[in-house]
Amino acid sequence: MVRVYLHEVTKIFGKSVVALDKVELEVKSGEFMVVMGPSGHGKTTLLRIVAGLEEPTDGEIWIGDILVASPGKGIFIPPKDRNVGMVFQNWALYPHMKVFDNIAFPLRLKRLPRNEIEKKVREIAEILGIAETLDRYPRQLSGGQQQRVAIARALVKEPQVLLMDEPFSNLDARIRVTARAFVKDIQRKLGITTILVTHDPADALTLADRIAVLRRGVVQQIGLPSEVYDKPANIFVASFIGDINLFEGSIIGKGNETYFDGGDVKMQLPPNIGIPSNESAILGIRPEDIVLSKEIISNNDLIYVGKGIVEISEFAGGKFNVMVKLQSTEIRVVSSTSFRLGEMVHVYFNAQRIKVFDKQ
Ligand code: ADP
Ligand code: MG
Repeated sequence: MVRVYLHEVTKIFGKSVVALDKVELEVKSGEFMVVMGPSGHGKTTLLRIVAGLEEPTDGEIWIGDILVASPGKGIFIPPKDRNVGMVFQNWALYPHMKVFDNIAFPLRLKRLPRNEIEKKVREIAEILGIAETLDRYPRQLSGGQQQRVAIARALVKEPQVLLMDEPFSNLDARIRVTARAFVKDIQRKLGITTILVTHDPADALTLADRIAVLRRGVVQQIGLPSEVYDKPANIFVASFIGDINLFEGSIIGKGNETYFDGGDVKMQLPPNIGIPSNESAILGIRPEDIVLSKEIISNNDLIYVGKGIVEISEFAGGKFNVMVKLQSTEIRVVSSTSFRLGEMVHVYFNAQRIKVFDKQ
């Protein structure tokens, strides 16, 4: 397997649409990298540039030891010579071709002998569990099977790199979970260096070895799923990857005597949580990192925030989504127990889970 390395890659469409802005991204050999970001923020462009379907405006793309694109050095290796397989967002299956011919297509382009094509197609169809569908047309398959055909077509050339553009967006929520597990399993089995792009944090958290978060073509953070979730680099990353309560306020004092004053929400901050030097800051806490209790709790891991009134408490399958009002501030909490509406509760934040961000 090979690593893929994007070095300061910029892509400008027309005169001024900056789709990628000095993207620095190294995908290690065999790694599953998920690039996550909202719609229109450069994800598809990044994949197309690695595949060679688009030329970068600036920067370098490396696949293994080969420099495949560098406008500065006048280098551009076309897609067919890059050994990359791509699964497009809409799967792009040929409707008039049977599954077998869809999968065989890239091999026929390479003019492989007929018996070799037959062998390779059957092999990959077997691995992907679609061997019985080879004689059918795409429209005769379920969404999940069509997706596997698209993956089979991308993998049949035995590429060194697999690129997947929002591969789950065409599947309904129920199949998505199975499809994710399937993709993860295939990737692990084949050990193929993979870049998958998605706007869905659930894809990123469940599939990725590492996640890169893209905002307006700029990489915001690259890290393990747990790092990106627990130690987000900024408010954008924090709120894109999951729900988070944010409170604006000011930082007072320093060292072991640092306080956050956000009006209704004020507290002494635990040391070592990376407090910005700015006087104004935003404090963030995820709903599952808040504890509500009818009685006072004494626990060094919890910071007392105040008394609140339960406004909403709804069952969400194995947990409750609770809304507590602390004076005039509403706080979202995920709780294992339910509460009565109008009930008074003590509100605690898990000290180690508090995040403090620079005001942007
Ligand atoms: P995503 O996949 O994250 O939704 P894209 O990479 O498709 O984002 O698009 C990033 C930006 O580049 C958008 O502003 C989009 O309009 C623009 N863009 C993408 N492809 C082209 C193109 N071929 N010509 C002009 N603008 C483009
Ligand atoms: Mg896209």
